[in-house]
Amino acid sequence: MLPSDGRFGSGPSRLRPEQLTSLTTTYRDLLGTSHRQAPVKALVGSVQRQLLDLFDAPDGYEVVMGNGGAAMFWDVAAASLIEHRAQCLNFGAFGKKFARAAGAPWLETPSVRSAPHGTLAAPVAEAGIDVYAWPHNDTSTGVVAPVERVVPASEALTLIDATSAAGGITFDAANADVYYFAPQKNLGSDGGLWVALLSPAAIERAERIAASGRHIPDSLNLHLAITNSRSQQTVNTPSLVTLALLETQLQWIIASGGLAWAESRARESSEMLYRWAERSDYATPFVVDPAHRSPVNATIEFAGNVGAHELSRQLRAHGIVDVDAYSGIGQNQLRIATYVSVEPDDVRRLTECIDAVVCGLRGQ
Ligand SMILES: *Cc1c(COP(=O)(O)O)cnc(C)c1O
Repeated sequence: MLPSDGRFGSGPSRLRPEQLTSLTTTYRDLLGTSHRQAPVKALVGSVQRQLLDLFDAPDGYEVVMGNGGAAMFWDVAAASLIEHRAQCLNFGAFGKKFARAAGAPWLETPSVRSAPHGTLAAPVAEAGIDVYAWPHNDTSTGVVAPVERVVPASEALTLIDATSAAGGITFDAANADVYYFAPQKNLGSDGGLWVALLSPAAIERAERIAASGRHIPDSLNLHLAITNSRSQQTVNTPSLVTLALLETQLQWIIASGGLAWAESRARESSEMLYRWAERSDYATPFVVDPAHRSPVNATIEFAGNVGAHELSRQLRAHGIVDVDAYSGIGQNQLRIATYVSVEPDDVRRLTECIDAVVCGLRGQ
């Protein structure tokens, strides 16, 4: 009754076996070679092109990369994109962390709009704001947010942290100026890289701030990253394995039907969990409003007489791993990734395994 693969973590997340095989076949002669030479540059170029294709990016948008993952990009945003003051939505741990980065001493104190965990905060038009920022999916709570302009046709930039959403949730790329992510979640790669889809307005902002005299370390200089990305490079050495795994995942998603296909597959899995929890007498979806429930990672709250910690421990003993709640969020919950790489049938088996473990715990 066990799932074919027990990895349900929200990140790093399940890699498909074909991706691992590709490392010793397709990429065998590429790994261990210079990122300044044509073969690796071609790999970077292919990732850039496929992301523009997958996101159906408007003309003039560019894909830029750098080292350090999504959390590093928060500091890139503070150094290179926020001119004076950001408005940040805090409806989970990741939005909150961005707000902390946006409180850098050279910026004005950000305007932070918070909502209790499990619910969604809404942005509001505000004078003096030059960046509106929130996560597409706050992976800590499993709340999904719309990607929309707060003030259409304004100079303010819209920055979306898409780390768990990217490649698993449809959106209109024209509604974001910066759609950034690390690829170790729905995109089934490994960590260490940040990737950003930038609008012409974001590119212009980064260029202007870089030329303004503000001190910006090279590692946080988005303008420098843009220049490098235009020649299919990063400022310093990237993980080639991360790029290779990302390329194979993009090929797979695009060949299978693109973003709409990926979202429907993720939804098939997450809806199965939400429906199971609604039917269950000891579990319920943590996010009460169905419209705010994440398609890519489902948080399930358990009744007080079922200990989620012990449940997770017993599942792990059977090879079902990383379903724990995000630290500091829920009191008694599991968080289950339903990324595109997860087989929906494995999610069905997972619910049966949870039922069996709970049955055993209750019998004690
Ligand atoms: C995982 C995650 C991050 C952090 O990613 P790192 O690559 O570890 O920096 C940031 N934002 C969201 C929404 C995430 O899910």
